[in-house]
Amino acid sequence: MSSETGTANAETHEFQAEVGKLLDLMINSLYSNREIFLRELISNASDACDRLRYAAIAAPELLGDDAELAVVLAVDRKKRLVRVTDSGIGMNRDDLVDNLGTVARSGTEAFVARMSGDEAADASLIGQFGVGFYSAFMVADRVTVTTAKAGEDTAWRWRSDGTGAYTIEEVARERRGTEVELHVRKGLDEFLDDARLRTIVRTYSDHIALPVRFGDGDEAETVNRASALWTRPKKEIEAAQYTEFYRHVGHAFDEPWLTLHNKAEGRIEYTSLLFVPAETPFDLFHPERKHGVKLYVRRVFITDDCEGLVPRWMRFVRGVVDSEDLPLNISRETLQHNPVLARIRTALVKRVLGALEKKAEKDAEGYAAFWGNFGPVLKEGVYEDQEYRDRLLGLLRARSTRGDGLSSLAEYVGRMKDGQEAIYTITGESADALRNSPQIEGFAARGVEVLLLDDPVDDFWLGAAPEFDGKPFRSVTRGDIDLSAIAREDGGEAADDTPPPPEGMATLVAAFKQALEGTVKDVRASERLTDSAVCLVADEGGLDMHLERILKQHRRLDEESRKILEINPGNPLIAALAARAEAKPSDPALGEAAALLLDQARIVEGEPLPDPAAFARRMTEALTRAL
Ligand code: ADP
Ligand code: MG
Repeated sequence: MSSETGTANAETHEFQAEVGKLLDLMINSLYSNREIFLRELISNASDACDRLRYAAIAAPELLGDDAELAVVLAVDRKKRLVRVTDSGIGMNRDDLVDNLGTVARSGTEAFVARMSGDEAADASLIGQFGVGFYSAFMVADRVTVTTAKAGEDTAWRWRSDGTGAYTIEEVARERRGTEVELHVRKGLDEFLDDARLRTIVRTYSDHIALPVRFGDGDEAETVNRASALWTRPKKEIEAAQYTEFYRHVGHAFDEPWLTLHNKAEGRIEYTSLLFVPAETPFDLFHPERKHGVKLYVRRVFITDDCEGLVPRWMRFVRGVVDSEDLPLNISRETLQHNPVLARIRTALVKRVLGALEKKAEKDAEGYAAFWGNFGPVLKEGVYEDQEYRDRLLGLLRARSTRGDGLSSLAEYVGRMKDGQEAIYTITGESADALRNSPQIEGFAARGVEVLLLDDPVDDFWLGAAPEFDGKPFRSVTRGDIDLSAIAREDGGEAADDTPPPPEGMATLVAAFKQALEGTVKDVRASERLTDSAVCLVADEGGLDMHLERILKQHRRLDEESRKILEINPGNPLIAALAARAEAKPSDPALGEAAALLLDQARIVEGEPLPDPAAFARRMTEALTRAL
């Protein structure tokens, strides 16, 4: 990726392709809200100081004789320069290449692929994605970063004009930390104005726990409050300050959908300030993504990668937890097994679940938006976290055959018919397609609601969750379904006076079985169907058909299980075939019909036909005979 061209001692590197595209777009089409560059640079400076403070617990010599952690802003109007300097951990050469030449965030490629070339649309996309450091190029036509890492002897200078390449060279080390120098573009003189810059700092960076100073020496003035936001009393914090803090701590660019600020006092003491984002982060399903909750111990940042703090299915939560009880020198490794942390974790999970339950109850529409963003992650919790399974099931929302809206399981159970014992589900690629599945015809006829589940994760949690409110989950595409206890609503016969099967039905089933021997597991008359002639279902003990297809697509399953073909005695075609079977059990037309109907059932199921040519031939012959 990087190429070294031999100027004196500066090496030239090319930006990662994705960075090049992002920069190009930022420079040429993002005109609104340029002022956020300062928020991003101060946010990075603050992170760098946090990391140094943590490293210095074990190695105090890293602070040297410069123990003050702060951010300093300076302006040189004549030269059109703005400088943001911090005394944080700094970067070495490799850090510079890794951090300021690539977008290390997972999902970047997919993000760039989504950019359309339509500037307005892409600009808003970028706004959601966020580009941190690179936002400097929205106001600067040249950026110079001079930096020295704590504990190392060399300093490095990174320079770029944001078009394709950057250089790195070694320079004399003056002090630890990082200075970002912006050469302000023509026409953007407002960003050289002290008063304007102060306003920007107060608007976006007031919550930063470090002093942000203006100017040097005696005239220096601290512009922000420089106290950690979460330590301030709730009533003194404005919504906009929570939002800015959320963006800093979550490296986010949207609004928080939910803000939970709480101080726990008692046997264990800690403060938590947690947020649920309004939008789905790009990397939510990326396995490498870090947990979004940062751990502090008495205002000192410890880690943003603490497995033990929240369960995986809560990875959409952002924020901080600041403990009074944990030792400052706790290592990240031992944290996982710490009993104090385990208790904080339990409390956090309950707090978040409680808040979600309240939202779901009070604001169904808002909750539906949350569910659209993070429902699949909560379903992972149903699958892997037995401890909270029931509460998570309570938060679950799904579409069903009843109307278009989302339903809770409790609502579903409340609408169950007399005699209905299970919560019926069907899984597949899209709820709309599922509505037309033949397997749900018999349910519809009896007014029995079926949940239409179209997340890939649905098959997995259904496999793990045995029941809700004492009612088992049952797939309508599996096993032998007995609906005889439930009355039909469509004027059809109720349980007790099921119509006698057409003459010859048993012979037809036997003929189909023989014709499809080795291809299907069984052939049987169906209760599931009211209109369609046939459908496929899985064996009671087998995998659900949709799950099997998913596993096969991902090559996690070599051999498919054989299905059961159900045929509908009430369908005119089946009745005609039954009459034919009664008259002439060995009629070869029966075998042809069996093969054709099986292929038809496969097509409805979205399964590939094993022999499409044979299907086409049979179809043509059947049509020819009919004409
Ligand atoms: P993010 O802050 O979300 O990680 P940025 O684009 O803002 O993304 O920054 C990229 C990386 O560059 C940071 O994660 C950090 O490692 C490094 N970095 C940026 N600014 C500084 C700084 N002032 N001091 C030390 N490292 C920095
Ligand atoms: Mg940043």
